Amino acid sequence: MSDAILVLAEHLRGEISEITYAMLGAGRNLAKALNAPLYAVLLGSDLAPLAARLGAADKVFLVENPQLNLASAGTAAALLKELMAQQQVGLVLVGGTNVSMGIGSVLSVRTGLPFVNFCKKISWDGALTCTSQLFGGKILADVKLTDGRGVISIYPGSFPAEAGKSEAAPTTVKLELPVAASTVLFKRYIEPEAGDIDITKQNVLVAVGRGIQSQANVALAEELAQALGGAVCASRPVIDQGWLPLSRQVGKSGMTVKPRLYLALGISGAPEHWEGMQGSQLIIAVNTDPKAPIFDGAHYGVCGDALELVPALAEKIKAKKGAA
Ligand SMILES: Cc1cc2nc3c(=O)[nH]c(=O)nc-3n(C[C@H](O)[C@H](O)[C@H](O)COP(=O)(O)OP(=O)(O)OC[C@H]3O[C@@H](n4cnc5c(N)ncnc54)[C@H](O)[C@@H]3O)c2cc1C
Repeated sequence: MSDAILVLAEHLRGEISEITYAMLGAGRNLAKALNAPLYAVLLGSDLAPLAARLGAADKVFLVENPQLNLASAGTAAALLKELMAQQQVGLVLVGGTNVSMGIGSVLSVRTGLPFVNFCKKISWDGALTCTSQLFGGKILADVKLTDGRGVISIYPGSFPAEAGKSEAAPTTVKLELPVAASTVLFKRYIEPEAGDIDITKQNVLVAVGRGIQSQANVALAEELAQALGGAVCASRPVIDQGWLPLSRQVGKSGMTVKPRLYLALGISGAPEHWEGMQGSQLIIAVNTDPKAPIFDGAHYGVCGDALELVPALAEKIKAKKGAA
C-alpha cells in the first residue's frame, strides 16, 4: 500500500465548504489508483459534528484548538507537517482558496515536496499528472509528480463536490499536537455585502463591461436581465467605478460563474475576466471592436453597439413573453 493521501478539510461557521467535498472526491479516485488510504484533517473547534460529514475519508483527524479556526499559513503548515510524518502521508490536497493556498505553499517549502497550484485535473498512469491552470487560463501545464508525493492545491469548481459526499460514518481520531504561536493572528471575519444576489447560482447572466459607459446604462442591462429571468454581473472596471457591488464581479479577483447563458456586453475579454466565466455553457458577446479578444472564445458574437442592441432586445423578449 502507498503512503496516505491527506485532504485539508475547510470549514466556515459550522459548515464544511464545498471545496472539501471536491477534494475528497478527487482524493478517493487517487486513493483507488494508488492503493492508498484517504485521510482528512480538521483544524479548529467543535469539530465532531463536522467530522461526521466527511464519510468519504477512511479516517478523519481532529486537531481541536480555537486558535486554529482561521489559522495562519505557518501554524497550519507546522501541524500538517507533523501529521504527515506521524501518519505516513505522501500527498496532501488543499483548496485553491484564500484560506488554504498559503498553507499549501508553506507546507511545500517546509517538507521539500513539490507544490502544484491551480490544479484542474489529476490522473495516474504510473506517475501522477496534475494539470495546472496558469496565467488565468491561457496556459495549461501538465506537471508530473513521478513518485506520487507532493502538495496539490485544487482549483475551485474543477472537481465535482458530489463525488466527495458520503453518508458513511468515518473513523475519527483526536490528535494532541502542539500549536505553534504565530505572528499573524486572525482578528475578525468581514461579511460580504448582505442582501445582494449570488451570481454563482444564476442560470442567466447579463455581464456589463467598461463599454456600457455609464452607471445609468447599467439599468438597461438590468431590464434585459429581468426579461431573461437572470441577473446582472460585471467586469472589474464597472465594480471599481462603484456602479455595481463587489459581489457582482466576475473574474480572477471576483467570482467564478457557470451559467447556462453569459451575455457579455462591452467586455473586451481580458484573461482575468475570462478566467471567471469560461465555464459558461453559452457565451454571447456584444462588442463594437471586431478584434476584441472576447470573440475568440465566445460561441456567438455580435459586432455592434450594446447600447443600441440591449433596449431593442429587452423589448423583443418582453413582447414575445406578452404574446405567449
Ligand atoms: C491581478 C488582476 C486581477 C484582475 N481581476 C479581474 C477580475 O476579477 N475581473 C475582471 O473583469 N477584470 C479583472 N482584472 C482586469 C482585467 O485585466 C481587465 O482590465 C478588465 O477585465 C477589462 O474590463 P472590460 O472588458 O470591461 O474593459 P475594457 O478592456 O476597457 O473593454 C471594454 C470593451 O468594450 C467595448 N465597447 C466600448 N463601447 C461599446 C459599446 N457601446 N458596445 C459594445 N462594446 C463596446 C470595447 O471595444 C472594449 O472591447 C484584473 C487585473 C489584474 C491585473
